Amino acid sequence: MATKHILIVPGDGIGQEVTAVGKKVLDKIAARFGHTFTYDEALVGHAAIAATGNPLPDETLTKMRASDAILFGAVGHPKYDNDPSAKVRPEQGLLKMRKELGLYANLRPIKLFDELLDASSIKPEILKGADILFFRELTGDIYFGDKGRKNNGDTAFDIAEYSRFEVERIARKAFEAARTRRKKLCSVDKANVIETSRLWREVIQKIAPEYPDVEVEHQFVDATAMLLIKDPRRFDVVVTANLFGDILTDEASQIAGSMGMLASASVGDGTGVYEPIHGSAHDITGKGVANPLASILSAALLLDISFGMKAESEAVISAVDQVLKAGFRTRDIANAQTPADMIKGTDAIGEEVLQRI
Ligand code: NAD
Repeated sequence: MATKHILIVPGDGIGQEVTAVGKKVLDKIAARFGHTFTYDEALVGHAAIAATGNPLPDETLTKMRASDAILFGAVGHPKYDNDPSAKVRPEQGLLKMRKELGLYANLRPIKLFDELLDASSIKPEILKGADILFFRELTGDIYFGDKGRKNNGDTAFDIAEYSRFEVERIARKAFEAARTRRKKLCSVDKANVIETSRLWREVIQKIAPEYPDVEVEHQFVDATAMLLIKDPRRFDVVVTANLFGDILTDEASQIAGSMGMLASASVGDGTGVYEPIHGSAHDITGKGVANPLASILSAALLLDISFGMKAESEAVISAVDQVLKAGFRTRDIANAQTPADMIKGTDAIGEEVLQRI
């Protein structure tokens, strides 16, 4: 029996709707396993800009540092998407949070529930059994380097930078995870052209002998984009830089059928952050149809990684599996054969999961 303090940071759009369901799942786990979870809530993104003018207020950061784990929703608002010149933006809150909390590793498990084989646009015979764990570096690369304009604004630049230390710390996390799985690590770069990629490959090659039980391969990012669709089962653990990881993990989300199914963990030096990979989805906000399973699976990752509660985490994943096996779907993972009465809204499918925990 443990006592833990969890910060709920719903953010914007459907972030609010799905995180509320994720929190109910944590509550249910606490009740069933005899833990005490206490909660606080904080603002981020557009919600925080509207209230304070700052996408990551100091109060939010203080609460984040004081918590044992963070369940995060999503940030974003159409207002900024259509105005690239806006100086204060919701996603600045996300980037600052990653930097301030030292969240250098983003873990994205891509695992297909058998019941959803048909929901993917990839053929079931290619997909069945695919199980990939991505490690995307999160606090370096072109996202955090110097950027600006010159020549009267007609030329733009973004500097990509990596240090040996930054590559090594995420590589070690990926090697260690590979050891607990099928013992295969694929490092993705563009070392034929990009200097940061050459350093990346050099570091992986240097530390690989320390993990003789892990089989290492190097792939270029363009080839990886192709192989993920052609033969997803060939991958076990994949480790890559921030920009390549951002793109490849969205591509890989299609293996799982929907953005609404995928959870992620961002971990590093301090408090871990657990969030769905999807955004604030303005097109469906307020309609009660958002799929909360990614937030629920994020709660499962939180229990496992930040609290070391394996049985509790498994109980959540198994409940999701049972709900899918029973035939319940949200709109995004339903197909033409799904009976109308089995298509559930955000809260209703959440209830089905709660009942099975
Ligand atoms: P999105 O992930 O919000 O939505 C993409 C598509 O997937 C939409 O059609 C949406 O309806 C659908 N979708 C996403 N999550 C779903 C769910 N849980 N259930 C059912 N359908 C779901 O990406 P977008 O439309 O490119 O961006 C919308 C906003 O979100 C933008 O402001 C963007 O900046 C922001 N964003 C935030 C994050 C984040 O907070 N981590 C990530 C990506 C995008």
